[in-house]
Amino acid sequence: MANETSADTVPQAASILAERERWVANGVATPKAVTVGAHGARIETADGRELIDFAGGIGCLNVGHGNEQVLAAIHEQVDSYLHQCFMVASYEPYVGLCRRLGELSPCRGEQQKSVLFNSGSEAVENAVKIARAATGRPAVIAFERGFHGRTLLTMTMTSKLVYKRSFGPYAPDVHHLPAPYPFRGIDTADALEALHYLFKAHVDPSSVACVVLEPVQGEGGFIPMPADFLHALREICDQHGIVHVDDEVQSGVGRTGKVWAVEHLDVEPDLLVSGKSLGGGLPLAAVTGRAELMDAVSPGGLGGTFGGNPLACVAGSAVLDIVASERFAEQAQALAARLRESLDALAAEHPRIGEVRGLGTMLAMELVEDPQSRKPDAAFAQATLAAAFDRGLLLLACGLDGNVVRLLPPVTIGDADLEEGIGLLGEALAAAAER
Ligand code: PMP
Repeated sequence: MANETSADTVPQAASILAERERWVANGVATPKAVTVGAHGARIETADGRELIDFAGGIGCLNVGHGNEQVLAAIHEQVDSYLHQCFMVASYEPYVGLCRRLGELSPCRGEQQKSVLFNSGSEAVENAVKIARAATGRPAVIAFERGFHGRTLLTMTMTSKLVYKRSFGPYAPDVHHLPAPYPFRGIDTADALEALHYLFKAHVDPSSVACVVLEPVQGEGGFIPMPADFLHALREICDQHGIVHVDDEVQSGVGRTGKVWAVEHLDVEPDLLVSGKSLGGGLPLAAVTGRAELMDAVSPGGLGGTFGGNPLACVAGSAVLDIVASERFAEQAQALAARLRESLDALAAEHPRIGEVRGLGTMLAMELVEDPQSRKPDAAFAQATLAAAFDRGLLLLACGLDGNVVRLLPPVTIGDADLEEGIGLLGEALAAAAER
């Protein structure tokens, strides 16, 4: 691996970063890496390095950078037409992707339909619109540590101030409840008690359109929702006619080893929101659910100029074929076992890894100041990320306190890259722990 910086390529990276500083708004976070190419689980940088990619464009590359099947589908479509706008004329790639999403849908109901968008935020926002139209109710329930996007409504639903500060007033009738987080002492019974309290004290359940929950909270810290919580929530939704929206923008599309994370939990949601890895690197997101709900909105009520762009749709169908295959499931299982084993070994070595958790290949380590107090240690996480980057591994943090190191490598990562990445992760943690 070419990790030495070569003198004549350094100015290129430096000048791109300088130009970025000059021309790009500061509100977009500024990482150090400058990419010039990517393949599989590796990224080439402008200063001539290669990084092992355990970030996957924040979970968008479950099938890897430049996946051959995805590229072939895109190449073929490029020569036919790039854009049509589904509201101007229908085209097969959009219909074909909705068929595929319907066939693979984990949602309740016989006939499944979908509608396509450009981003996860847009799709979550539209899932709420559909739930409101179907129920005729206004209120939305979201959960602490949830992330649902950056539009006004989805930002309101998101619970982390860094994404919300100075952007109010927020959307009305959005209510936040605690979600189970066993490591921090919140169990299913606590979360349900808070829900019942909300229904008694503040919100009439008959005014609630939908409950929106990630089956594994992503940005909030890779917190898997316990099955008993999902089952209880499903029952409460049924009791009160509330739509259960399953936000799988980060946890879906093969990340956990099944196509959808909720399939591990034996629950049928009403609406599924997918995004990120669905487009294999192109902007694409979807809302899927039974026809009766989806068709509550009359023609013209949903859509968007670019939503379901033909290139993104053919990529999406190729991605779904890959992640629904037996081969992919085997790869995911092997990767999950190997990552879990290596994280458990690191935790045995480093007492400040407070917990290793996740579902399938969606795994993370929560870093703490000491195992007794469990005080979140964001500085340790940042130092680990920096040490990893210096050694050639791209990593991300997450969590309300920024103290969780999450792993989102392509599920298709080869053994050699995986072993190298795991080795670098161990070195980075050791260096960060000693700082
Ligand atoms: N929902 C979840 C669970 C997410 O993780 C994200 C993105 N991190 C979104 C919604 C928003 O997706 P996008 O950034 O594509 O708008």
